[in-house]
Amino acid sequence: MKGNHLNNRHGSFSVPKNPWRLTRNLWFRKDSWTKIAAQHTEKRWKMPQANDPIPLAAHEQDCPCGRGSPLRNCCLPRLSGEHPPRTAEQLMRSRYTAHVFLQIDYLWQTWSSEQRQRSSPDQIRAWAASCEWLGLQIISTEAGQENDSEGLVSFVALYRHDGNFQQHHEVSLFHQVMGRWFYVDHRPAE
Ligand SMILES: [Zn+2]
Repeated sequence: MKGNHLNNRHGSFSVPKNPWRLTRNLWFRKDSWTKIAAQHTEKRWKMPQANDPIPLAAHEQDCPCGRGSPLRNCCLPRLSGEHPPRTAEQLMRSRYTAHVFLQIDYLWQTWSSEQRQRSSPDQIRAWAASCEWLGLQIISTEAGQENDSEGLVSFVALYRHDGNFQQHHEVSLFHQVMGRWFYVDHRPAE
């Protein structure tokens, strides 16, 4: 399968064109993981407790979602409710950032009602807090624009859990209902 070439601040990657047919590619090159983790640890602010306001020191730093803008111009206005996500990708990015800052209420409120029946805010908090979130890469999107009612976002999240580097690749489904985007479900990428 021939893929596109992608460069970002984490290195360069070969990206297959069809996200549904992904093989077990390492999106974040393994030899760069330790470097990413070290940079991440260096710039770490004091982590908030669940649902605490996001530390001011983080507002001017690069948004954890990896879009390349300061947090205050990226996911912060989504998390604060000032500018809710207008696209599925914006919700995906802000949900990743919410994991980083333990904004559990936001994660809960942006879950569809079906998802809420399968879990609890405590479970989300336990999961988010047990991981050191190291990076997000959006691989591709399908629909999910302002006028769509559905959208798919394929992404890879890199994190450290129990001392081990993990990368989670998922294709997420989002729905827009009454002008609000919700995370509905996912299918694991192959
Ligand atoms: Zn962001």
